[in-house]
Amino acid sequence: MQKPSASQIDTESGLGYIGRFAPSPTGPLHFGSLLAALASFLDARANQGKWLMRVEDLDPPREPAGSAELILQQLLDLGMDWDDEVLYQSSRLEAYEEVLHKLQDESLCYPCDCTRPQIREMGLVYNGSCRERGAPPEMPYALRLKTDALEIGFDDEIQGHFAQQLEVEVGDFVIRRKDELFAYQLAVVVDDELQNITHVVRGWDLLDSTPRQIYLQRVLNYRPMSYAHIPIIVDERGQKLSKQAFAPSIETDRASDAIYKALTFLGQAPPAELEKESAEAQLQWAIASWDIRAVAKVGSLPLN
Ligand code: GLU
Repeated sequence: MQKPSASQIDTESGLGYIGRFAPSPTGPLHFGSLLAALASFLDARANQGKWLMRVEDLDPPREPAGSAELILQQLLDLGMDWDDEVLYQSSRLEAYEEVLHKLQDESLCYPCDCTRPQIREMGLVYNGSCRERGAPPEMPYALRLKTDALEIGFDDEIQGHFAQQLEVEVGDFVIRRKDELFAYQLAVVVDDELQNITHVVRGWDLLDSTPRQIYLQRVLNYRPMSYAHIPIIVDERGQKLSKQAFAPSIETDRASDAIYKALTFLGQAPPAELEKESAEAQLQWAIASWDIRAVAKVGSLPLN
């Protein structure tokens, strides 16, 4: 089955297809992150695109030493090799700082020292109460981006149309945290632009971050891109498999078992005779037959 032809966006940007996998190195690759890696890899390769690697190492306290190297080695052992140099977000702090200054100069963001309990009292959507304060609060404070009430919608390649009114549903959001670390939302947008990403394929848990990212792209005058959110994998209690929840690491000495199972979860219906083939042969089959429309249009799938 053929994937639908490349979207408007590629044609407009003239970049062709550039995809990426952007793991946070909080532990080894597990089945949930393998699915995101594999889906983004297959979508890129099936579209004769590039597949770039970005290590989102912006939160050192949550990153056990060696996790990034381990994830990269696991991907190579599984037969998924990326193009170009790996981009480490820890090497990009100056670039984020620069963008932050630009936003500050344009009065598009502001300091906020509201606490979690205060925000909980607001009903979890930040009500913008620090917007109009005069002098900045005492350190530590976060920086929040001003949002507006315009609806931001996009057509997700898997999940369909999704829209949010940021000011109402999300509130002004943090772009630099109280602990002075850059927030994911800022870094991801700056680096998707730097790496000329045209297609983002990732887990459904980030679907509702996407309007924030599109908003930030617009504020910064960056290119738009296309998005596809695959279901996340949940355990028997309905919790996302995650490194924090100690999901088991992918065993790459059984690479073909992992790939075959992941293809099944991605709705690709690999033929039974492929199960005993090498991971390499499975990936070749999967690139040739990749159909993003076969991925389940749901937020999560149970592991068992
Ligand atoms: N670093 C994020 C994660 O590991 C993914 C970010 C993205 O794909 O935009 O969950």
